[in-house]
Amino acid sequence: MKNKICLLGLRGSIPVSGKEFSEFGCATSCMVVYGVPENGEPEPTQAIVIDAGTGILNLRKNMPASIKKVTVLISHIHLDHIQGLLMLPEMFNGQLEMDIYCGMHCGESLEKGLKDMMRPPVWPVTPEYFAKTVHFLELPSEDFMAGDVKISSMPGAHPNDINIFRLTFPNGTTLVHVGDYEVGEYKEIDEKLKAFAHDTSLLLMDGMYTMDEYKSQRGFGHSPWELTAELAEKVGVQRLRIIHHAPTHSDEALRKAEEYIKGRYPGAGMGREGEILEL
Ligand SMILES: [Zn+2]
Ligand SMILES: [Zn+2]
Repeated sequence: MKNKICLLGLRGSIPVSGKEFSEFGCATSCMVVYGVPENGEPEPTQAIVIDAGTGILNLRKNMPASIKKVTVLISHIHLDHIQGLLMLPEMFNGQLEMDIYCGMHCGESLEKGLKDMMRPPVWPVTPEYFAKTVHFLELPSEDFMAGDVKISSMPGAHPNDINIFRLTFPNGTTLVHVGDYEVGEYKEIDEKLKAFAHDTSLLLMDGMYTMDEYKSQRGFGHSPWELTAELAEKVGVQRLRIIHHAPTHSDEALRKAEEYIKGRYPGAGMGREGEILEL
């Protein structure tokens, strides 16, 4: 069985709108992956979603109707990675079994973060309205299975904590997701990440800034795309998609960045909303 990965949201920090963003997209962090049957294999019944930014609102139309359960892995509790949960119909209508995993960040759970945010006068709908089919679970520190996919995680380098995920599929391919990350600020974590992402089939990783922008944004928890591409190349990643595009970067700016990284590393590219990758 092959695996299909749909990129549903690539923007970092806040969603954007406007025709200058039509190619790389407007929605914040989200992707979904599920198995594609081959040679008479049964249709998939489960999918894995990573992050729940506004891109998650397009989840249902980007996965087969046969999927009845999703495992949602939340990298961290920053708004751009969870905001979609507030308006996702499946959080309220009971039509999809959802196991939502998140680590304890700054000693607090995702549920607590949602409770703080989903209350009048900030938001009219409180978490009591969530369907019984929605389960909040603490991310285990050891590997665990979502269907036949093995999920591993490690802490990353980003303010207020973050988890990096590695998915190992039954066909032996791997995907590593590094939601928000600052290369070079925490050397020890960089070394762990290099081992964790070594030789992976596909790396999705933060590359929010240009080198020039990074000079004034150091310590904010994001990387310039040049450093992300360099790290990916060093650890032997087969394919790289840069994610978490700055809200100020138009299609033109991202196309230029892509040209540069492809020039030195053919397996690299800037992620586009709606892009479908296969593993
Ligand atoms: Zn973010
Ligand atoms: Zn963040």
